[in-house]
Amino acid sequence: MRILVLLGAPGAGKGTQAHILARHLGLPRIATGDLFRAAVRAGTPLGLEVKEFMERGEFVPDETTVRMLLERLDAPDASHGAILDGFPRNRAQASALDESLAKRGSRVELALYIAVPEDELLARLSGRWVCQAHGHTYHEVAYPPRVPGVCDVDGSPLVQRDDDRPEVVRARLENQLGGLREVVDYYRPLGILRVIDGRRPIAAVTADLLDAIEPKPYWRA
Ligand code: AMP
Repeated sequence: MRILVLLGAPGAGKGTQAHILARHLGLPRIATGDLFRAAVRAGTPLGLEVKEFMERGEFVPDETTVRMLLERLDAPDASHGAILDGFPRNRAQASALDESLAKRGSRVELALYIAVPEDELLARLSGRWVCQAHGHTYHEVAYPPRVPGVCDVDGSPLVQRDDDRPEVVRARLENQLGGLREVVDYYRPLGILRVIDGRRPIAAVTADLLDAIEPKPYWRA
């Protein structure tokens, strides 16, 4: 089982890169934020439980989040592993993940941290649009869709997430940067943390990620 964790603040490009890596490596992308949003849309008991946390830009409680993530990891399409996008978000989630993977004789292979400075994150987040069907992400300035308001990949409408409004963006960033630092500090001493410069163009960040995941032999570098 190959578990790769993608880390980054909101707006660091984590979702975009997770989609690309998933295609490239043939692993499912598991995004806790997408799972929660789908549950809210469908009005399931989980959705009702998490709706208010999400609207306020706060974390959903760990117990609920970990339970949902582990259930998702049990699905057949994740039997060879997964790319985790948006989980773990704090130290408690990281160690809960390790414990449950250890029971399956597995562990996190790498934690890939896409690092972007805070002022750039704020600028990026304000122009983000997401496709309703699969969460493909666009940016008004940096990465616009070919047809405004329509997803290039699946043709579904693009929407601005409630939690991408400026006042919520600031709250989310402050809320999440602390947890992100915790998770980075959790993985660093384990020797599985790789820091990628997220200020570069999308393709360059992808190349750096793939190099970190599958380093080229020196004669091809
Ligand atoms: P995201 O799409 O990853 O930005 O997540 C959107 C929202 O879902 C977050 O603001 C949280 O409310 C919730 N969420 C997603 N992942 C987690 C997580 N690992 N732990 C707690 N809450 C989460």
